Amino acid sequence: MSQLIKAVRGMNDILPDQADLWEAFEDIARAWLRAYGYRPIRMPLVEATPLFSRAIGAVTDIVEKEMYSFEDALNGENLTLRPEGTASCVRAVLEHNLLYNAPQRLYYSGPMFRHERPQKGRYRQFHQIGVEALGFAGPDIDAEHIIMCQRLWDDLGLDDVRLELNSLGSPEERGRHRGALIAYLEGHADQLDDDARRRLHSNPLRILDSKNPALQSLIDTAPRLEDYIGAESRAHLDGVQGLLKDAGIPFKLNHRLVRGLDYYNLTVFEWITDRLGAQGTICAGGRYDGLVAQLGGKAAPACGFAMGIERLLLLWQECGEQAERPAPDLYLVHQGEAAQRLAFKVAERLRGDGFALILHCGDGSFKSQMKKADASGAQAALIIGDEEVQANAVTLKLLRTADGQPGEQRRVDVESLGEEIARTLYDLEDDDGSL
Ligand code: ATP
Ligand code: MG
Repeated sequence: MSQLIKAVRGMNDILPDQADLWEAFEDIARAWLRAYGYRPIRMPLVEATPLFSRAIGAVTDIVEKEMYSFEDALNGENLTLRPEGTASCVRAVLEHNLLYNAPQRLYYSGPMFRHERPQKGRYRQFHQIGVEALGFAGPDIDAEHIIMCQRLWDDLGLDDVRLELNSLGSPEERGRHRGALIAYLEGHADQLDDDARRRLHSNPLRILDSKNPALQSLIDTAPRLEDYIGAESRAHLDGVQGLLKDAGIPFKLNHRLVRGLDYYNLTVFEWITDRLGAQGTICAGGRYDGLVAQLGGKAAPACGFAMGIERLLLLWQECGEQAERPAPDLYLVHQGEAAQRLAFKVAERLRGDGFALILHCGDGSFKSQMKKADASGAQAALIIGDEEVQANAVTLKLLRTADGQPGEQRRVDVESLGEEIARTLYDLEDDDGSL
C-alpha cells in the first residue's frame, strides 16, 4: 500500500461534526448581514501579486513574509493566494464600476492564506467574513459596522468580547506624527530590535504595534499619534463615539491600536477576547479612504471589517455552543427488488413535498436497516417490503416517542403518504394535502 498523503501544514480539514457548527454559524451570519442590507460578492482566491503589495503596503508582515506567491508556470505571471479580502473586493468594485452611481454595502466570506506559524487560532488557510462599505464618508457608517458586530456577538451569545477604538487621523496628520516618531526612535536607536530598525524609515508606526516586551517602555513614551490629530479627524472620532454611546456599546480608546495593514485612516477598531490566549482578536476593521484611489479608481471613501471565523467559532464553543447534527425527518428501509423501485419513487416524492429523507442504500436485513434508521436521528422510519409493494403502501413507524417506548406503526397508502406524515410528525393539517 502506498503512503497516505496528508493535508498541508496549517491548512485544516473541517470534518462533519465541526462543519455542522460552521453551517449553523453561517446561517446566523447571513441573516445578520441581510438585516443590515449588505449584499454578497465573491472574488477569486488568486490575484495578481501587485494588487496586494499596492493595497496592503510593501512593508507589512503580510506582504513581507506571509504571502503564498508563485509564478504561473504557463505565462510567468506573478500570482498570490489572497491573504485578505479588502484588496480583492475593491479591485472587483473598480473593475466592474459598481460605484458608478451608488455607494455599496458588500460582504464576502471564504478562505484566506497567510504563511504564519500554525497554532491555536492561527492557521495558514483560515476563513474570514469581510464587510465593506464603499462610497460612505461619515462616521455613521463606521458606527453601523461596530454596532452590527455587537449584534452578531449577541445573536451568537458570545461573552467577554471587548471593543478597542482609535483614530489614525488623516495622512497629513500621520505624516507629521511620523516625522516626530522617527526623530524620537533615532534618538534611541540602540534600544531597537532588528524588525524595528528595518521599519524605522519605511513604516515606523508599525513599531508601536510591536509585541517585543523589550520595546514596551520605549513605545510607552513615544510621541502619540493622538496628539497630532486635527479638529476634523477628532470630530469624526467624536461622531463615532457618540453613536456608540447612544447604542450602549462600551469601548476603550487605545491610542496604540494601529492595525497591521497600511491602508487605514481615521477610525480603526478591534474586538478582543481574553478567552483564546494570544490569538484574542476576533474581528478588526476601520476606515480606508485612500485605497480606492491607490488602486486606480476615482477617489471614494470606504470602511470595513473582517472577522476570523475559526477564532469566532472557538469562542462560540467556549461559550457553550455545541454542533447540532441536523437529522433527517425520515429514513426509508426496504428489501427486495420491487420494494427498492417503489422506495426510490416514494423517496423522491417525499423530498418534493419538503421532507429530508435518507434512503437506505446497500444490503442489510430489516433489523440492521432499522438500527441505521434509529442512529440517523430521523423522526420516523418508512418500511417497504413485499406486502407494502402489493398494497401500494408504506409502513410508517415512529422512532422518537416521548416515553422511549416502541413507536406506533401503521400502514399508509402511497397516495396520501406526504399528508399523513406531516400530520403524524408535525401536527400539520392542510386541507389540500400539501405542506
Ligand atoms: P493578528 O494580529 O492576529 O495576526 P491581523 O491583524 O493580521 O491579526 P487582520 O488582517 O486584521 O488580522 O484579519 C482580521 C481577522 O482575521 C483577525 O482579527 C483574526 O480574527 C483573523 N485572522 C488573521 N490572521 C489569521 C490566521 N492566520 N489564522 C486565523 N485567523 C486569522
Ligand atoms: Mg497577522
